[in-house]
Amino acid sequence: MRAVVMHAPGDVRTEEIDKPTIVEPTDAIIRVTAACVCGSDLWPYRGIEDVNGPTPMGHEYIGVVEQIGDAVHEIEVGDFVVGSFVASDNTCEICQAGFQSRCVHQVMMGSVGTQADYARIPLADGTLVKVDGQPTEAQTKSLLAASDVLGTGWFAAVAAEAGPGKTVAVVGDGAVGLLAVLAAKRLGAERIIVMSRHADRQALAKQFGATDIVEERGGEGVAKIKELTNGYGAHSTVEAVGTQESMMQAIHATRPGGHVGYVGVSHGVELDGLDLFFSTVSLLGGPAPVRRFLPELIDLIMRDEIDPGVVFDLELPIEEAAEGYKAMDQRRATKVLLTL
Ligand SMILES: [Zn+2]
Repeated sequence: MRAVVMHAPGDVRTEEIDKPTIVEPTDAIIRVTAACVCGSDLWPYRGIEDVNGPTPMGHEYIGVVEQIGDAVHEIEVGDFVVGSFVASDNTCEICQAGFQSRCVHQVMMGSVGTQADYARIPLADGTLVKVDGQPTEAQTKSLLAASDVLGTGWFAAVAAEAGPGKTVAVVGDGAVGLLAVLAAKRLGAERIIVMSRHADRQALAKQFGATDIVEERGGEGVAKIKELTNGYGAHSTVEAVGTQESMMQAIHATRPGGHVGYVGVSHGVELDGLDLFFSTVSLLGGPAPVRRFLPELIDLIMRDEIDPGVVFDLELPIEEAAEGYKAMDQRRATKVLLTL
């Protein structure tokens, strides 16, 4: 089967590898119908994370169940399913509390690789959610977005306690930041301020419900958000980048008593204890428990109430995955969909 393999930073190839087989009785094999390139795939692509030999890539996926292990009971062959980037049993105490991304039996799907014709899904009963009905092309893209970027943006907005009467600030205008705007709007936020310097992303943010755009960064960006909120700062701030600057921007843009939902994969971020102490904000973040939100998100998508799939602005056949990585790296594309 075809699969995307990273050999070294900047070196991504589409190759023939062996089709996966059932390893554990709780596994399912799915035929992937669409996959995509994640902003987090760019960390190793840019050499910021190590690449230890040829690595199968991808952790976002939708597809059709081809085969199930003997212990799989909730999912059947032929089901059209969506999963997230972490396989989880959905039964342990952590899962039951809604933090499936930290399930005691978690398997990171990035270690499996889903930019491929087929993928092995561990803990299939807990991980996969069946989609009823036949999705349209637009709904298919949105379901793929639900697999990671929508679910992550949604968690960030929930963690930041976005809701009615709230002013929400979003740091980061990648797919996750943009979909956090959609989530904040959907959760009833009154005002949504996006920090972005790219005209096309600003336009999409507005389409999703952003009311204000801030182009300044760092201290200037924080000052601008304070200015827009009568000096208070935002009630709720989403951090969707993962750098020192973006994290500090998020914390400092939040008013005392406010909440920061941080979902950018942290790289080299160090928090000063005294600064954090006096910020008086709540921090909740980490790998998003997308599984918690999947049933609700699938329902909203299949009823055409949200259209997160519009974040995909480049579609390529899997053979051209290398070009997809390059386009995202060079910011020529926000989010790349790989067709199979
Ligand atoms: Zn669990």
